[in-house]
Amino acid sequence: MNSTLAQEATALLSAPKRVFIVGHKNPDGDAIGSCLGLGLFLKKQGHQVSVVMPNGFPEFLKWMPGASDILCYDKASDKVKAALDEADIVFTLDFNALNRIGDLGPLLEAYKGTLVMIDHHQQPTDYALLTYSDVSMSSTAEMVYHFITALDCKDQIDAAIATNLYAGIMTDTGSFRFPATTATTHRAIADLIDAGAPNSLIHQYIFDSNSPSRLKLLGVALNNLVLMPEYNTAFMKLSQQELDDCNFRKGDTEGFVNYCLSIQGMVLAAIFIENKQEGITKISFRSKGDFSVNHLARTHFHGGGHTNAAGGRSDQSLEQTIAEFISILPDYKHALLHDS
Ligand code: 5GP
Ligand code: MN
Repeated sequence: MNSTLAQEATALLSAPKRVFIVGHKNPDGDAIGSCLGLGLFLKKQGHQVSVVMPNGFPEFLKWMPGASDILCYDKASDKVKAALDEADIVFTLDFNALNRIGDLGPLLEAYKGTLVMIDHHQQPTDYALLTYSDVSMSSTAEMVYHFITALDCKDQIDAAIATNLYAGIMTDTGSFRFPATTATTHRAIADLIDAGAPNSLIHQYIFDSNSPSRLKLLGVALNNLVLMPEYNTAFMKLSQQELDDCNFRKGDTEGFVNYCLSIQGMVLAAIFIENKQEGITKISFRSKGDFSVNHLARTHFHGGGHTNAAGGRSDQSLEQTIAEFISILPDYKHALLHDS
């Protein structure tokens, strides 16, 4: 984080403020961890803080310190609106455009106070007074660590803040293995462990919390695996019926797409998930090397994200969406075969 931005942020937070912090729709570990980490830090600095998500988050993130105080807009819209009405500052974390927060988007478009963005997604939009965007960062949680450090407040990071930031970094880096994981990331992690983040326990809370029905659903997804070696591509699908049969709960499909990418030689992976309630097919993309799923998701599936991890959606049926995906693969054949 550059020193001008640090000075501006310091000035902004020099007196007690009412702060509203929001992460993206269908929040993941990084959205929750970065928002809670920043929220607990700002509370400690004497600010009044509301942490808000557009909708609910998975069970396996509910243990995170402060998670029970999160307001979800889909369940507590009046409280969220009241918090936004009185907020002096809104921090938007882990997303790059106001269309990533569902029905909260128009409310923030109309918001007249000070907006601050902290985010690592590509193509950030320009809505904030202060924009701390760094697409080379492993996670927004790592950026919150750098933000706190740039404010000269590293010694304020306690075990609860450290635990949230550790969990955010750990989940967004696939346990420190994705290419955006740097020596700097590991130094931040070392500091967070020093500050009291129970590293081994955090992995346990996140990864050893499967329900039997989630594992059954993984079995169904693996059974539905389609290999297209001619494009170095593998994908899975899950229909609404299959989700219902396995008692699907939010977050259950998190990480499934990585199994596609774990097959030797695969460059592109996808999972297509039918959502009858929203009338859409939700897609997660993953890739290896220079092949940009951000580009693919933006160009064809109303989405975006990062070079190697992106998401998108289609208003078409599950099978039509998959047919559309298969039909565009020839356009990418050269890149897919040369990135392996
Ligand atoms: P996931 O596949 O785990 O849901 O998301 C992978 C990455 O892509 C995350 O960084 C997420 O924020 C981003 N992403 C997921 N879905 C969408 C989408 O519909 N639009 C955009 N712009 N980004 C998305
Ligand atoms: Mn993130």
